[in-house]
Amino acid sequence: MDELPQLNPAQQRTLSLLRRSAEPTVFDSELVDDLRNQSNEAFAHFADRLDGRTLFVTKHTLSSVHDCEVHFLAPDDFEWTPARARGQVAHKAIQLMLNWRGEPSPRELVDDALARLGDEERDFGRWVAALSPGDEADLRGQAVERVSKFSECFPPLDVRSNPVTEAAAQWPLDHPILLRARVDLVIGRPQGRESRKVIIDLKTGRVSQRHREDLRFYALVETLVRDVPPRKLATFYLDSAQPIVEDVTEGVLRAALRRTLDGIHRLIQLQVEGEQPIKKPGVSCRWCPYRNECSEGQSYLRGGDDEIDP
Ligand code: SF4
Repeated sequence: MDELPQLNPAQQRTLSLLRRSAEPTVFDSELVDDLRNQSNEAFAHFADRLDGRTLFVTKHTLSSVHDCEVHFLAPDDFEWTPARARGQVAHKAIQLMLNWRGEPSPRELVDDALARLGDEERDFGRWVAALSPGDEADLRGQAVERVSKFSECFPPLDVRSNPVTEAAAQWPLDHPILLRARVDLVIGRPQGRESRKVIIDLKTGRVSQRHREDLRFYALVETLVRDVPPRKLATFYLDSAQPIVEDVTEGVLRAALRRTLDGIHRLIQLQVEGEQPIKKPGVSCRWCPYRNECSEGQSYLRGGDDEIDP
């Protein structure tokens, strides 16, 4: 018989926070029907206002539109950098780790992840393939740090718990408005109507309410797609070796639906119907392209550091 691995205290803490309770979690099928009916009804009204456009709604779109609207509408000058890319590389390496035979080192996993990503025919793959030696070393170092922290804080994941990284979900199948989720890590799967899935986002840095809202959105999409809500949501802070965990409840799902529909309504007002955006100074002033000329943003940035990183 295989020996059970010895867990360190951080791994034990993670295990106990994510563990199933003795009482099975089962949601009423009427709740799921109600969430879907409300979504369908709202989407039908929204579609009439889209003027032929298509809306892809992600956690990022929602958190941005609920934040400063002027920043949300600013031109997107996104460019990959080692700091921005480390999450993608680390997730790929963790995906490899979950399926690798033996015990590869974080460095081996990251090297393999970089080679595979660099072969992909998409913008990110082309960027990885063209990295300078310095940027590649920088990216490798940052990704190795994340993978090392993950392996130190997470108990080894048994294949029977069905761990999946970068798990994608979309609802509905075909509509001008599509809700899209891509979850860092999913563990478990429903058994009949019993909720057994745990949805996990991996983060570095500080705790943010935004992270909780992101996970609630994922829980909503999971419920609409598969009819069985997840049982738990966890934002795992790698730097602190600690997850912040929330049980999925009817209230969580209804709040996620309300926030999602409010966000789509505002997206249409801003992007299709030409409503004026409202400035909302806050944490996103730090990376806003207007931060040097916006008086509200300047005043916020001078005023303190009581907010949190994304
Ligand atoms: S600096 Fe802040 S308040 Fe000003 S537009 Fe940017 S995010 Fe909004």
